[in-house]
Amino acid sequence: MIPEDKIITNPAVREVIKNIDLNKIQFSDTNKFYTIDSEPNLLVFYGLKPTHTTPLNAEVIYLAINDIKTFCMSNKINAFSTNKLDGPTSLTGYPRIRTMFRHIFKATDIVVKIYVGQQLTSEEKQQIIYEHHNSPLGGHSGVSRTVKRLKLNYNWRHMKKDVKYYIKHCELCQKNKSHVKTN
Ligand SMILES: [Zn+2]
Repeated sequence: MIPEDKIITNPAVREVIKNIDLNKIQFSDTNKFYTIDSEPNLLVFYGLKPTHTTPLNAEVIYLAINDIKTFCMSNKINAFSTNKLDGPTSLTGYPRIRTMFRHIFKATDIVVKIYVGQQLTSEEKQQIIYEHHNSPLGGHSGVSRTVKRLKLNYNWRHMKKDVKYYIKHCELCQKNKSHVKTN
């Protein structure tokens, strides 16, 4: 269930959600998925709620993401976006959850896009740029290629400006600037 104060950052989801009564969505122990087919999007709700017997801990979240993977695979879903999940403890915080998504979907071809909107702190943005620029896959690409890679997973305002600034201060890129054309 989406709490009322939750900001839906994915505009497509926001558009679909305003026409439905979220209170009608019911989950059970056997069925944690509720789908709304709103061409061209399929909106899937997953019932992730803490109860007395299952507190919202890292394991519960991990199992939920695994469930989502199974759901995607059996429904032949090859890409989906989700809003940012952020639990109250360091083990359930957004960086951990992002790592879980990456780990669980690593061996699949499913593209997971996490809509984070304005909720990222600048430290988080720096960390994300780092992961997409300094990693072996990132390979210290130039601004446009780094932005392109980032946009597979993220989107935020002034992303390009942030990446430009980041690369301008990336030691390795600056060192190689004289003999490697960065793009
Ligand atoms: Zn670099």
